[in-house]
Amino acid sequence: MRIGQYTTADTEQHWCGVRTDADRVINLSEAGAGAGIDIPTDSTDLLADWEWQRKAELAIEYAEKTDTGVYDEAAVDRRAPVLNPEKIVCVGLNYRDHAEEGDNPIPDEPVLFSKFPTTVTGPESTIEWDPEFTEKVDYEAELVAVIGRETRRVSPEDALDHVAGYLVGNDVSARDLQHGDGQWVRGKSLDTFAPIGPELVTANEIDDPHDLEIWAEVNGERLQESTTANLIFGIDELVSFCSQAFTLNPGDLLFTGTPPGVGVYREPPVLLEDGDSVTIGVEELGELSNSCEYR
Ligand code: ZN
Repeated sequence: MRIGQYTTADTEQHWCGVRTDADRVINLSEAGAGAGIDIPTDSTDLLADWEWQRKAELAIEYAEKTDTGVYDEAAVDRRAPVLNPEKIVCVGLNYRDHAEEGDNPIPDEPVLFSKFPTTVTGPESTIEWDPEFTEKVDYEAELVAVIGRETRRVSPEDALDHVAGYLVGNDVSARDLQHGDGQWVRGKSLDTFAPIGPELVTANEIDDPHDLEIWAEVNGERLQESTTANLIFGIDELVSFCSQAFTLNPGDLLFTGTPPGVGVYREPPVLLEDGDSVTIGVEELGELSNSCEYR
């Protein structure tokens, strides 16, 4: 299932939709209401319902039979597939080559940091910053795992049962603030610095999250290209590691790190500017495109 969040021109309230094919989106709560099933309009609330997958399947079946809640994709606006995560946990230096690129030793344990939830923005929206506040804005292609269940002290063997699905993320980073502060949270947490999308793809549709091509392009030029087979710590290990320290909840996002080729370490450096277009892609998940704008 490919779950996105959408709005229509006549309403500000977003709703959860499932993309059934290239052009159609089913509004789950609208189709669910027709079928007599209560389905939340927000994806975090949806994921928190342990029966959500069965309810969504019933709503889709009803929509396809009756045409209730079926929208032309061109007639709706996309929002981020998760809009209000309680937490965004990120992992630094989790691709072997990326650690070497920055002259950093390969870590023995995951290096965690976080972005504030106010960073989240959706596909096709703009990444915005004031060029007088930061002059070194960079992209990071990442595979993002979305937590589906309350997760506390889970073993690596059981950890993937707690992942609802995956999406594409861009861990946008203000390098001057990140490196100047000696602590990363400010440089990683400017508003709009966590574009995610295009949809949350449920875990059952992904053969192996540790064998997916991943790439980044700026203005059509490919600058990052790797595979999640190069992850130092896999998603099972990361979820388990995090959950030893703190509870993960439905809708929480885990950014799993970025491969080599980020702008700051290139010769010469490639830093994002007003008008640039950044596309991050992950095999089986799709592509996430955002434009950059000085504000
Ligand atoms: Zn990152």
